[in-house]
Amino acid sequence: MLALVTQPGHPHTTRIEEVPALHAREGEVLVRTLEVGVCGTDREISDGLFGIPPQDEPTLVLGHEALAVVERTGYGFTRGELVTATVRRSCGHCVACAEDSPDSCLTGDYSERGITRLHGYARELVAEDPTQLVAIPKSLGRLGVLAEPTSICERALRHARTIGGRQPWQLERALVIGAGAIGLLMTYLLRLADVEVWTASLEPGNELIEESGASYVSTQDTDLSEVGKFDLVIEAAGNAQLMAHTLGRLRRSGVACVLGIDPREQTVEIDGKVLGVDLILENRVLFGSVNAQRQDWLAGVADLDRAQKRWPEALAQFVKLRVPLDRFREAFEHRGGKATLLLSD
Ligand SMILES: [Zn+2]
Ligand SMILES: [Zn+2]
Repeated sequence: MLALVTQPGHPHTTRIEEVPALHAREGEVLVRTLEVGVCGTDREISDGLFGIPPQDEPTLVLGHEALAVVERTGYGFTRGELVTATVRRSCGHCVACAEDSPDSCLTGDYSERGITRLHGYARELVAEDPTQLVAIPKSLGRLGVLAEPTSICERALRHARTIGGRQPWQLERALVIGAGAIGLLMTYLLRLADVEVWTASLEPGNELIEESGASYVSTQDTDLSEVGKFDLVIEAAGNAQLMAHTLGRLRRSGVACVLGIDPREQTVEIDGKVLGVDLILENRVLFGSVNAQRQDWLAGVADLDRAQKRWPEALAQFVKLRVPLDRFREAFEHRGGKATLLLSD
């Protein structure tokens, strides 16, 4: 069968290749991949900056944002049912993984589908551990391909609410920095919870953001200090300087969460009083969040389904580019909205 493979650590080696046929073993469910989403992580792996192939194998099959269909009934799943699958799997020897929280793994020895030590979904068939499969409701359909980035948002929000909720706190106003897939999904999840949302990005306007009832701020003509302070700030633009500034945009007891990765070698600035005075006197917090655990996947799928029912026309525009697997380069180069690779109809 054909697969999208790459040699981690070797830039520009991503290619379509014939890989050995695959058979589900006892305890596995055979699924057929319909579609995989492409994100910055795939681009980084493809650029040779990230990723680890499975042990004793030269290549890694990409694809961690999966939508698949069950090929053979078993283990609680029925042929024809739509599913997605979690990304990170237990390291097998830490207390977090033992408590089904591999997203908080303490060793770093975890595996991740399509990223770290485990082949991904950019191939026709995958044999999967049924405990890692997540059912996608029929009503959500192909939008189930957004389950992975939504799970990232859900985990961040769950942690933000836990951290904010350590003291009396109300989440009334939120700022989302960045309007890529994560910024867009985060905006809609917060609007579902009836939070007043301001979403900021470089582009002059963004109708999709405004259709959710959020206010869009173009940072080309508006300084973020002009839109007030917030109970929650999410940085999803991948800019370390903007991450440092989030602390200064918080109200009393405010929580800032950073999700965008910025691997550049650099030093960023922060106002000394924001760190030395406001952070303390106003009980503010800045934290990072990665990955997701099963409860976040379930919440993400349920909220995507609710969002689609509330804003059907907007949700239909979330995936901007769908191309067949052999046109993967177009998807990798696409900017401004989610791109996906189609493996099967
Ligand atoms: Zn991704
Ligand atoms: Zn672990």
